[in-house]
Amino acid sequence: MEVGVSIERAKLLIRENKLNLSSETISLENANGRLLAEGLYSKVHDPRFDNSAMDGWAVKKSDCQSDSEVVLKIVGAIQAGAEQTISIESGEACKITTGARIPEGADAIVIVEDSRVDGNNVVITGPARKSFIRIKGENLSRGKLALSEGTYLGPSAISLAATMGHDKVTVYRKPIIGIISTGDELVMPNSEINDWQIFESNSFGIASLVEKMGGIPKRYGIVTDSIDQLRETLDSAVEDCDALITTGGVSMGDWDIVRKIMESEGDIIFWRVNMRPGGPPIFGKWNEKPLFGLPGNPVSSHLVFLMLICPWFSCTYGIEESAAPNLGKKIRVKMKNSVKGAKDKLCLRRIRIVSEETGLYASTHTHQGSGNIHSMVAHNGVTLLPPNMGAEEGDIVDAFWFN
Ligand code: AMP
Ligand code: MG
Repeated sequence: MEVGVSIERAKLLIRENKLNLSSETISLENANGRLLAEGLYSKVHDPRFDNSAMDGWAVKKSDCQSDSEVVLKIVGAIQAGAEQTISIESGEACKITTGARIPEGADAIVIVEDSRVDGNNVVITGPARKSFIRIKGENLSRGKLALSEGTYLGPSAISLAATMGHDKVTVYRKPIIGIISTGDELVMPNSEINDWQIFESNSFGIASLVEKMGGIPKRYGIVTDSIDQLRETLDSAVEDCDALITTGGVSMGDWDIVRKIMESEGDIIFWRVNMRPGGPPIFGKWNEKPLFGLPGNPVSSHLVFLMLICPWFSCTYGIEESAAPNLGKKIRVKMKNSVKGAKDKLCLRRIRIVSEETGLYASTHTHQGSGNIHSMVAHNGVTLLPPNMGAEEGDIVDAFWFN
């Protein structure tokens, strides 16, 4: 077991324990937000055939070289989806819509705005452009790998899959993540509450984070600070889940039962990470499955998820952290006020990031305590201040901007 590791070291140890997910084939309609487990090859050329990018006239460019108006004979009209083929000779034009096949003999398009019809003729008043013809296969040729394994299927990738002729995709199975909240003080929201109790909130936030990362959260409710109850819940959750997340009970106190049970009956890979807030997480295994023991403070549990569990998901999916369906992005911001750093720890101050004409700016508002989940809502990002580094007003610092 390693104690007090850097974020980089923690990520490395976590990545060594990524999941090996099986795959499943689903319909494209249900694929939003999933990750491809197999690459997709195009079944067709895109475009499938030479076609017009504009509504207008299909012409021969050599007929339309003069600076003055040109009169061409109208020999037909073709629209997108029309089966018939038309051909034109010199001195002729064919009316055409966007997406329609280019008539035989035509090599340029004049847009409708640059023309007027005069009986059986069309008077061309503007340029004929070859670039308004979309050439067969210029985007993709048949057989090309256009979406590789690990691609996140967002709206554009889903459209591309359909363009290539696929109505099904093979994606990674969603990992099932068990979530267990520990603490004698916890009761479910809107239940009867005594003066010494608080509403349980972590499991709700963490479940939402799991969903955002493409997993299926399975909530096991509240476990009181009893080793026996925790053991029973861990044993049952580990049967149904791919990995477990607990919150609370990982510090130095006598009642920190997640740390205690992991020490005596589990397998701890590391404990404590050099970040603030979020210092005391545990990572290890329970019955051979990964277990993330997050601190109980709501801000801490969110930020440890962001810093350590998001990269674990990315690694499990076999993709770069930056390409993951993550919660936001790393950026640089100019501070509008000074912020303190943390001794020997990466410091994540909650900041409100605004995009202004001259760049991205950030400022702190509200109380920054790790118990204040409101600070995560009142702000939209966190600083990534290196250990022992604060920032003055005007300093440019690394930050993470939540989606
Ligand atoms: P712990 O990590 O168990 O020492 O808890 C640290 C702080 O977080 C305490 O103030 C707890 O009451 C609070 N806390 C622990 N678990 C939760 C939870 N599930 N929801 C809200 N607050 C919690
Ligand atoms: Mg506790």
